[in-house]
Amino acid sequence: MLFLIGTVAILLMLDWRLFLVGVAVMPLSLWALVHYRRRLEGRIQLLRECSADIGNFLIETIQGVKLIVTSNAQEREVDRFRAKNDAFIDALMRMRWLGYMSGGLPGLLISAGTAVVFLYGGSQVINGAITLGTLVTFMAYQMRLPAPVQGLMGLYTNLATARVSLRRVHEILDAEVEIVEAPDAVALTEVAGSIRFDDVSFAFDRGPVLDDVSFHVPAGSTLAVVGPSGAGKSTIVDLLLRHLDPDAGAISLDGHDLRGLSLADLRRHVVVVEQEPFVFHATIAENVRYGRPEASDDEVAAAARSAGLDSFIEQLPEGFDTEVGERGMAVSAGERQRIAVARAFLADPAVLLLDEATASLDPVSEQQVIAGYEAIMQGRTTILISHRLDMARQADRVIVLDDARIVEQGAPSQLWDAGGAFPRLFVGAAQ
Ligand code: ADP
Ligand code: MG
Repeated sequence: MLFLIGTVAILLMLDWRLFLVGVAVMPLSLWALVHYRRRLEGRIQLLRECSADIGNFLIETIQGVKLIVTSNAQEREVDRFRAKNDAFIDALMRMRWLGYMSGGLPGLLISAGTAVVFLYGGSQVINGAITLGTLVTFMAYQMRLPAPVQGLMGLYTNLATARVSLRRVHEILDAEVEIVEAPDAVALTEVAGSIRFDDVSFAFDRGPVLDDVSFHVPAGSTLAVVGPSGAGKSTIVDLLLRHLDPDAGAISLDGHDLRGLSLADLRRHVVVVEQEPFVFHATIAENVRYGRPEASDDEVAAAARSAGLDSFIEQLPEGFDTEVGERGMAVSAGERQRIAVARAFLADPAVLLLDEATASLDPVSEQQVIAGYEAIMQGRTTILISHRLDMARQADRVIVLDDARIVEQGAPSQLWDAGGAFPRLFVGAAQ
């Protein structure tokens, strides 16, 4: 900037008329800069999108590599990659071209100014209006003009690139957090575990998932939730853990609306075992201890035993210190699930949510885990989502969900005898 200002000042002092002639093309080069930069932003955006597209493609195909190979889809996926890669290169070349036009063209026009000064200044010298010395000095200074101007223009282009990238980062940073803790959140120390849903409704974009659902689970009792898949059972779990908030109605724990409770306390006292639990790349002990890091080794071992995990651990060369999960030893779906069950045992919550937590177990380990469940469910509020009749029948109450609504609720034996929706769900299993 200083160099530019100094050069311009000296040029003006030497001969202002010659200076004006020399910069006559300046507006044109500014126009080129602004014109191409605007288009350049669009191109940069496109380039970023192409690059994100390739990233997504790679992650998905690497994760799905087994399916791709077994479906003989390698060639197809290679073609898809080639198409995405071509689109990326195309976008890159267009971006480079525009980058040159928005930076190089204005620079070229400025250099053309030098030629004009040469012609006009030369004629002035011949006419005796200025001395040769003035012209030579003038031109020596004018030669120095394009470098800083081009530098500034390049900076302008770089800023345009940064602005596009920044906009994309801001899209993520500015995304509204939907579940926030109330500023005056109540801490929960002692939890009895009474749960109440009052006229709860919840919808995704595609339509209602829970429609005016009400039920009560007294502290220490077990509620079984049954129904066809897609009925909204797992959504009840998400609502209880406040991964979602209801659109209408209220959910309470011990009489406190969940929205008024400290999130950390809620999630300490309400724990879920999911159908497809997550296992970290860490040792088995670390995975079991995840919900309660301060637990002792004895407690970890006891939790593993209750979850029927001990015979599996005995086979392992390093026992509890065997690394599992991605990049570690692969564990089967059943082992994964038992690790999650042990994790829940150890967390010792007041409210336990079991979302089809035995679905991927073989019959033998299922029996072990179910026996463990019976122990852990003692004196604890449990919501049991299960396709197993024997488990549902052990609950104190059952609600049958279908198509977002409760179609039946009551004691399992009573519903069974009534011969309605509840027994119909298990027609195949009962035979
Ligand atoms: P269930 O556990 O009873 O099988 P869910 O509670 O998981 O059923 O889902 C209920 C309905 O909500 C299903 O129709 C499902 O497709 C839909 N659903 C679940 N999660 C989402 C989501 N993130 N976006 C849109 N719809 C969803
Ligand atoms: Mg589900």
